[in-house]
Amino acid sequence: MKRKGILVVVSGFSGAGKGTLMKKLVQKYDNYALSISATTRDPRPGEQDGREYFFVTREEFKKRIAEDALIEYACYCDNYYGTPRDYAERHLEEGRDVILEIEIQGALKIKDKYPDALLLFVMPPSAAELRRRLSGRGTETQEVIDKRLRRAAQEAKGIEEYDYIVINDDLDTCVEELHAIIIAAHNKPVRNEEFIEKMRLELEEGGE
Ligand code: ADP
Ligand code: 5GP
Repeated sequence: MKRKGILVVVSGFSGAGKGTLMKKLVQKYDNYALSISATTRDPRPGEQDGREYFFVTREEFKKRIAEDALIEYACYCDNYYGTPRDYAERHLEEGRDVILEIEIQGALKIKDKYPDALLLFVMPPSAAELRRRLSGRGTETQEVIDKRLRRAAQEAKGIEEYDYIVINDDLDTCVEELHAIIIAAHNKPVRNEEFIEKMRLELEEGGE
């Protein structure tokens, strides 16, 4: 029986470690496809177009919205971010678990459109550690860091919409926890209706 892919949404405060975790997860396990978003923000040093993001102008972003080429999009700290439709739909069809590393407004839109999506929220072990990680990354100005921390405080109010929270204290432990949750989600009865029906029919026929 062909296993269907799950749309896995991973959110978390800026600096919680989502990018680092997702990189490890896809390196370690084969079945994941990590979606690359389009964004209007500038690339950070070391980021490459088509690898971390598709870096586009606001005009190009608007064009993609008009063409319905994004399955969701949101504005985050003055920039637009959106998930390309093609990649996610193609890989789900092929049975791969597609990971969307997106913020909360986008996550809620995905939940509306795809009620079977699995929503995971990555938390830092403490607010102080979050601040340390965000400053330690060294990629944003203090002004942007403060903006992102304020945004984190707002996002904290929406966490109950998620299926699971995962605490990113030790990196490798957190990767294993995320993987275990996704594996378990495949075993939900709603995702195995065909198998359950087949079993029921076989039992009715006397277990032949
Ligand atoms: P996000 O994608 O959530 O904004 P990043 O993956 O860029 O966060 O991580 C922010 C910073 O924290 C990076 O410098 C990263 O190396 C560091 N980091 C991530 N996870 C851990 C961890 N478990 N322990 C210590 N540092 C971490
Ligand atoms: P960053 O600028 O740190 O790369 O990302 C800022 C925020 O935008 C993060 O919370 C990240 O998860 C989110 N994000 C990245 N891509 C998308 C996307 O396609 N859609 C939405 N809604 N959020 C995204």
